[in-house]
Amino acid sequence: MSESRDCDVVIVGAGVAGAILAWRLGSMGVKVIVLEAGPGRQGSDARDRYIDNFKVSGNPYPLRPAALKNYDLFTNTSNYYQQEPQPRPKQGPMGAVTDADDPEDPFGEYNIISSAVSRKGDWFQTNYERQAGGASWHWLGNAIRLLPTDFKLRSTYDPRPPDGSRAYDWPISYDDLEPWYGKAEQTIGVAGTGEIMGAWRSTPYPMPPIPQSYSDLKMCAATAGVKFVDRWTDVSYPLVPQPSPQGRNSVDGYNGRPICHGSSSCIPCCPIQAKYDATQHVAMAEETGNVEFRGQSVAYQVLADTTQQNLPITGIAYRRWEADAYGNISSTPGVVTGRIYVLASHAVENAKLLLSSPCGSITVANQSGQVGRNLADHPVALVYARADRPMYPYRGPVSTSGVETLRDGTFRKYRGAGRMEVGNDGWLWPDGDPYFTPANLVGQGLWGPELAQAVSDKLTHQTRIGCFVEQLPNPDMRVTLSGVLDVLGIPMPRLTYGIDVYGRRALSANVAAMVKIFRGMVARPVVQYNYAEFLDSSGTVLPDVARNAGVEGTPNIFVREGWFGAGHIMGTHRMGSDPATSVVNAEQRAHGHSNLYMLGSGSWPSYGTANPSLTIAALALRTAETISKELTR
Ligand SMILES: Cc1cc2nc3c(=O)[nH]c(=O)nc-3n(C[C@H](O)[C@H](O)[C@H](O)COP(=O)(O)OP(=O)(O)OC[C@H]3O[C@@H](n4cnc5c(N)ncnc54)[C@H](O)[C@@H]3O)c2cc1C
Ligand code: SF4
Repeated sequence: MSESRDCDVVIVGAGVAGAILAWRLGSMGVKVIVLEAGPGRQGSDARDRYIDNFKVSGNPYPLRPAALKNYDLFTNTSNYYQQEPQPRPKQGPMGAVTDADDPEDPFGEYNIISSAVSRKGDWFQTNYERQAGGASWHWLGNAIRLLPTDFKLRSTYDPRPPDGSRAYDWPISYDDLEPWYGKAEQTIGVAGTGEIMGAWRSTPYPMPPIPQSYSDLKMCAATAGVKFVDRWTDVSYPLVPQPSPQGRNSVDGYNGRPICHGSSSCIPCCPIQAKYDATQHVAMAEETGNVEFRGQSVAYQVLADTTQQNLPITGIAYRRWEADAYGNISSTPGVVTGRIYVLASHAVENAKLLLSSPCGSITVANQSGQVGRNLADHPVALVYARADRPMYPYRGPVSTSGVETLRDGTFRKYRGAGRMEVGNDGWLWPDGDPYFTPANLVGQGLWGPELAQAVSDKLTHQTRIGCFVEQLPNPDMRVTLSGVLDVLGIPMPRLTYGIDVYGRRALSANVAAMVKIFRGMVARPVVQYNYAEFLDSSGTVLPDVARNAGVEGTPNIFVREGWFGAGHIMGTHRMGSDPATSVVNAEQRAHGHSNLYMLGSGSWPSYGTANPSLTIAALALRTAETISKELTR
């Protein structure tokens, strides 16, 4: 390390990506400083507070001022970023049942966006978190690999939907990443079994699978032999749920964590850390003696030396903040220097940081103009049912099984893939249970044994599935700088987002498949849009009258109108071999700045349907090796 530098490697952000990188480099003797916007390492009381906050206030995020503004007690994405909802493009007739034989929209009857909702426009519905450990505090724990075709969507299927979007191939293949997937599974501690959809494995899972829940097994029995016919291609697919690979312990003591106790509190947070979260690697990185975490330190600019041809990065400017007893914030500026710089502050914040960093006539790493663009999520549709027999939800991890078969197929030429997550959490997600129903029953005057019986009858029969679908990259969906400043005087990110035709088609087809599963679980299926009225993102009640016209009998399968964010933010500094169309190369190194790297799902050029963290970890481990080699040159 040069005398004039603070360390070898500066990392911004201590989530899954930053903490694992810091730990790997620290273990190799590399001197690392990590800037972390939120509080640094916290004790178990923070875990308890986090859970209490969620359960009491409905707010999954603890109150903290780490450069966020206007915090209120309820989850409000405007605290994280600014946005205006985009007008929704038309996708078949809205609010009416469409012709199932329409070649442009063969699953149109399962369009989940009615005219009432479509007027509201598309909001980005995913947020993130600022504290050491990042979003892994509240991740569910699904540790899923991308499929080989996810890396080559364009060259395999070349989808050309009518909105003009096109797919992009990754500059690496599944085979390139496979060894790193194995290492990531060891590092995180993944319990699983079997190969999924051609994602071949050279190493076994480090732990045996978490058992499928009682309700999963009931669903497996109901779906045995059931086929879903994709009407885009007339190909049929089995729908049996299989055990999901999970970053939670099926074995006591693996990576120092206890075995999962099945308490179903994985979101907001596992109270006993049976589920992996990145605070583990924050602690392990510190224990190497080579890594310093600077908490409450918000990076706001990447400094580049434009006098040199290779535009080296020379420092990261940050503000260290303090809060007094009254919550007033003060901050002091600082600059940290190293040989190599890594942005691991997640897709929105990485992009915002780059866009805030001048570099000659452009901003850092933005010679392609792609920084901040191609913002994507895995939009989620929910279908839920009241089964004829008890399913006994609210036990075990929030999800233990998934339907993987619709993650790949020739239909991807026309519409996106989808991964179904089978829930053990009853109607929590679509309807706010187990709180909503008991409160309603009390409101109806029930009490004592009568109330207990009614609660038991209603809650034990609940079941739900969610599908996470694939979008195509769209340069108009993007992060830019807002004119609004946060509490530290730093511009907030401004988001522009919408779901493309490919993603909307995927939602409709996957809703049809989920309905098909539930039709096999009730004797007299009656499908209705929404169980109850719901609030849209601006708080307006939207009774779904038009969709339910003509529904006869007692509804027992419910299609949740509208869609949710998955928590999977992707695409804002995409990877590619061509500096004219991408921001980082296959090593996640910025084109044009040899000592700058970007980690996380912002690097993904296309999105598949795997929950992102395992791939984020695999890429971080791969980049750790690149950086360590670079430092020894
Ligand atoms: C409800 C929910 C459930 C999820 N479930 C799953 C799942 O089952 N499986 C899965 O694979 N994924 C899941 N995810 C997604 C997963 O949590 C994220 O993809 C992953 O945690 C991202 O890791 P990261 O390290 O890239 O970013 P983050 O975890 O967001 O970490 C970024 C870090 O950078 C810090 N930071 C931000 N800005 C700055 C700045 N300016 N200066 C300094 N520091 C900064 C933050 O404080 C944070 O510590 C879920 C997400 C949500 C919301
Ligand atoms: S089920 Fe309970 S113990 Fe198991 S990972 Fe989830 S919260 Fe932790």
